[in-house]
Amino acid sequence: MLTRTKSEELFQAALKHIPGGVNSPVRAFRSVGGNPFFVDRASGSRVTDVDGNEFIDYVGTWGPAIHGHAAPHIINAIKDAADRGTSFGIPNPYEVQMADLVVSSVQSVEKIRMCNSGTEATMSAIRLARGFTERDKIIKFDGCYHGHADSLLVKAGSGALTFGSPDSAGVPAAFTQHTVVVPFNDRAAIQAAFEANPDQIAGIILEPIPANAGLYFPEDDFLQFLREITAANGALLIFDEVMTGFRVALGGVQERYDVKPDLSCFGKIIGGGLPVGAFGGRAEIMDCLAPLGAVYQAGTLSGNPLAMAAGIAAIEGLKDGNGYKKLEALGQRLEDGVMQAAADADIPLVFHRIGSMFCAFFTTESISNVADVMKGDADRFSKFFHGMLERGVYLAPSRFETGFISTAHTEEDIDKTVAAAAEVMKTL
Ligand code: PMP
Repeated sequence: MLTRTKSEELFQAALKHIPGGVNSPVRAFRSVGGNPFFVDRASGSRVTDVDGNEFIDYVGTWGPAIHGHAAPHIINAIKDAADRGTSFGIPNPYEVQMADLVVSSVQSVEKIRMCNSGTEATMSAIRLARGFTERDKIIKFDGCYHGHADSLLVKAGSGALTFGSPDSAGVPAAFTQHTVVVPFNDRAAIQAAFEANPDQIAGIILEPIPANAGLYFPEDDFLQFLREITAANGALLIFDEVMTGFRVALGGVQERYDVKPDLSCFGKIIGGGLPVGAFGGRAEIMDCLAPLGAVYQAGTLSGNPLAMAAGIAAIEGLKDGNGYKKLEALGQRLEDGVMQAAADADIPLVFHRIGSMFCAFFTTESISNVADVMKGDADRFSKFFHGMLERGVYLAPSRFETGFISTAHTEEDIDKTVAAAAEVMKTL
């Protein structure tokens, strides 16, 4: 058994003054049982808790840590920026460099605005789509998570789904009456939504590869279908690439599937582990933002020099493409190993993966939307999660979350993970 004395003490103290002891819900281990550990430090592929236990980490701070933890080139960039001051509230050169990097990396982005979280990015992109089209309604997909802005907290994934509240309390019905929810990969439902709301749909927002309610993929040409139906109806196509941007490729899902959205949202990797979000797209649309246009959007800390410096270092480190090759090889090794472990233990398992993003489902069914994901065996996942943790492997504490491999992971890390999985599978 792991020693957890200090983590337990901290958690009891946290419970006194922090709701649920955490500052973001999935960090509490509620859906898998037990209490979270507290991290003392992290380096490369490993996190070390306050009791000295070291884990191979597949959460990667929920996506940003594509270079692993405390990557020296990112830490140095932050230190260098911090020496010059932490925030100015007036433009700094990093902002220009960041904008150039994103525009040159992502094919659909002509202009970009930085903000401070993925939530802000999607919230602002929706407002911009509404302002640009002068329409109110948006289409979103069941199980897609776009952060916690009111109008998007409808049939959401991630923590909202994990804790059984995909529709949050505290959101007035009036705030979500313009949100139309349809199942992912369901073309007929989207067609019907446009027909039922003629000239009223401002846009469709989606995770082009949904990764907050398990991980599943757009069926053949589904993204192309969305591109065509939005264009035909004067609506915008908004890709939420907060998780997939710079993760599945430098140019995100839109590069891999060769589909050009009107607007895209980013976060996670482009902050190099510091708080960041961004949204960008066609210049004609982006120029509707204040101070040029009538759509208001702002932020005291937006374009923060530390976050920009960290994000620039993170993106620069991905540009030569070698990292993606390594991530694909490690991902394949993990997939092959875990599938073999499941087969040896006679445990039904579906393993979805794109590059360094993966999710395992304890089921035999094929999975293409959130309804399929719900069929996975929740008890088995919890046992698997705790079995892996006991053996020094930290997976996300929810069966709806996606795992991440970093370029700091090694083949040895993967092999240790597979060996642990093989042991745990036999106990399920
Ligand atoms: N969109 C997607 C696809 C996400 O995965 C997340 C966070 N996991 C968000 C938006 C919200 O980002 P943040 O937590 O930074 O507000």
